[in-house]
Amino acid sequence: MIARVITDIALDREFDYLIPAALEKDIRIGSAVEVPFGNSKRNGYVLEICAESTYSSQGKLKELSGFAHNRAHIPEKLITLGKWMAEYYCATQEHSIRTLLPAAVRSGKVKALVTRVFYLPDQAAAEKFIIDNADAKRVVKRVEVVKLMLRIHEGTLTEISGHPEYSPGAFDALRKAGLIACREETLRRDVFGEVEVVPGKPLPPTADQQKALAMVEELLDRKVPQHVLVLHGVTNSGKTEVYLQSIAKTLERGKSAIVLVPEISLTPQTVRRFRSRFGDRLCVLHSRLSDGERFDEWNRINSGEAQIVIGARSALFAPFRNLGLIVVDEEHESSYKQSESPRYMARDVAVMRGKLEEAVVILGSATPSAESVYNARQGKFLLCRMDAQVADKPKPIIRIVDRRLDPLPEPGSSNLFSPVLIDAVQERLERAEQTILFLNRRGYARSLCCPACGYEARCPECSVNYNYTYSRRREILSCHLCGAVIPAPECCPECGSPDIIYRGSGTEKLESCAHGVFPGARIGRMDSDTMRSSSDYEVVLDKFRRGQLDILVGTQMIAKGLHFPGVTLVGVINADHGLSMPDFRAAERTFQLMTQVAGRAGRGDRRGEVIFQSSKDSEVLQFAANLDFDGFAQYDLEFRQMLNYPPYTRLIAIVFRGEDESVLANFAANFAAQLEPYKHANLKITPPAPAPIEKIKNKYRYLMTIRGTGLKTIREAIRVLALHRPLPKNIDIAIDVDAQYLM
Ligand code: ADP
Ligand code: ZN
Ligand code: ZN
Repeated sequence: MIARVITDIALDREFDYLIPAALEKDIRIGSAVEVPFGNSKRNGYVLEICAESTYSSQGKLKELSGFAHNRAHIPEKLITLGKWMAEYYCATQEHSIRTLLPAAVRSGKVKALVTRVFYLPDQAAAEKFIIDNADAKRVVKRVEVVKLMLRIHEGTLTEISGHPEYSPGAFDALRKAGLIACREETLRRDVFGEVEVVPGKPLPPTADQQKALAMVEELLDRKVPQHVLVLHGVTNSGKTEVYLQSIAKTLERGKSAIVLVPEISLTPQTVRRFRSRFGDRLCVLHSRLSDGERFDEWNRINSGEAQIVIGARSALFAPFRNLGLIVVDEEHESSYKQSESPRYMARDVAVMRGKLEEAVVILGSATPSAESVYNARQGKFLLCRMDAQVADKPKPIIRIVDRRLDPLPEPGSSNLFSPVLIDAVQERLERAEQTILFLNRRGYARSLCCPACGYEARCPECSVNYNYTYSRRREILSCHLCGAVIPAPECCPECGSPDIIYRGSGTEKLESCAHGVFPGARIGRMDSDTMRSSSDYEVVLDKFRRGQLDILVGTQMIAKGLHFPGVTLVGVINADHGLSMPDFRAAERTFQLMTQVAGRAGRGDRRGEVIFQSSKDSEVLQFAANLDFDGFAQYDLEFRQMLNYPPYTRLIAIVFRGEDESVLANFAANFAAQLEPYKHANLKITPPAPAPIEKIKNKYRYLMTIRGTGLKTIREAIRVLALHRPLPKNIDIAIDVDAQYLM
């Protein structure tokens, strides 16, 4: 038999090896093996087992050396998923297979924490030893140790040696005599970092929840042809409770479950909620774990010890062998897209994994993606709506304030607050209620210019105007494209004028203006500038929760999932901000964000109020203000259908990057020309041209897009062109299938 193996450094080639007869029974798809490669040995994974090699004549094939040491095996169905990802997302097999395992597991360097536990293998013998030696002077110490062991039963050396009866000589002698034995135990690194979680019970389901759970059962028991359920439920409709009870139903059927949550929502509160229901059957996987922790969690899944995992994107590849359910919470989130090859969309891969493993997939959201709405309309996915909140609260009052109608601000004063918003915040301060102010940009200002000479600061290595964000507290300019940081100049670097001005505002400015407009108010800020670690995050949130802050200012970070009963007002400083992005998903993103932000108001007993400040007319904001998801979905889908955008078509974006612009332009044009033969009537190709972000870190960027239906052949051609030939020096290609951003 022959094993087709992908090695760690082989780009997109597999190599065939003979399987030694002795291993034939044990080697299977997904086995981690060691193979001879040139003069050295390499590790790899078995992708296929076949009777004949297609590569070379069988006589010349080498034998694989054996299993790789310390390497985990990959379940076969995951290998199938990995191969599919490589094909579909135009990635190399190697990148794709790598994605299936956390680096901590793949490297073979991280080890389990093992401790030795000492115990009495034969209690009767121990008791006899004490009786026999009751009067023996020479073994007094041994007798003491045996008595100790009888009392504590077992312990690590650290624990045992802490007792006064312990004596090293006597202990060793007893071990030699076989009265005390030792076994090795694997310790679990504690990822929860907290002592106890109170066990929780399922809540009696509401009518909506009953309906959803009935559908989940139908899916679990294969009474319907579909395997995906779109759970479209407003915030607080009880979706999470549906997930929890669906998991319980999955476990009842002897199967395991994966819960995907966007990284930003994977808060200790969320984890605690799942843990209180499922205890040690739950494990977590996210980017803040240490390598050791990730290694342990992964192994608890792999060994079958844990049946549920909650985690960010990569938890999708948890090595369960009898998967029954995948939950994708906030399925519309674009953070489910991986930014490196394979550029996979976790939501879509979840649907694929569900199909391969005959598992049920629940896609939950208050604002489902256009793709999922479309698939539900087509009957490919089931749809369940939960329109009522568990505790029926009045909906917030949402108003759009047109900034163009505001009086002009006094010279020198900031223009961040409309009079309407100022009054509303003032009222909250008087009533001791809380306010959230949202601005989707961090920093103090976003451009620095000199009125005297027209100088405008921009990162020299990146294109796009205003790529700098100015932080006043740190007195720096940082480029939001490449991250380069320079000290903020005190006077114009060109003409020396001291009258340089900063324009545009971020949350840092918003905070400082809020101090000016609402003197005496207690204000906190949350954005990636102030939140260096997750403990900073907890500190501010905790203060806000306890009512020690009146106003919380922040970016995206505060839009999602946080529950503050004291908040009765949410102000969005520039609600129209995202609408001007050159992207067909701009409307969808704005609608989602505004719906989410609005959901932060009035979660307590008092009715919430939301103010969207905007400087343009926008149907999208109208839909959001009217809480009209259906209206928006109809509007957005019509627009996409008219312009042939996904979900009516598929879209591939290819970004070419290189240092020499003319070489790059030539290369890209040439690449596009080679795709000509694969064109057909249902494909629209926009030829390579400078991308909206033309340059990052001195690398020019050219963008080409392909959209249409029937992309399989062209995708295969792109794959071959981009992956199977050496690229010119200094040029690279990023292929993004189902791209989320066209920048
Ligand atoms: P969602 O995920 O849709 O925002 P949750 O599942 O978090 O909603 O539920 C919102 C709130 O309602 C939570 O505080 C939850 O404990 C509570 N809740 C959910 N389901 C029930 C139920 N069946 N009975 C009572 N309270 C419930
Ligand atoms: Zn100047
Ligand atoms: Zn830059």
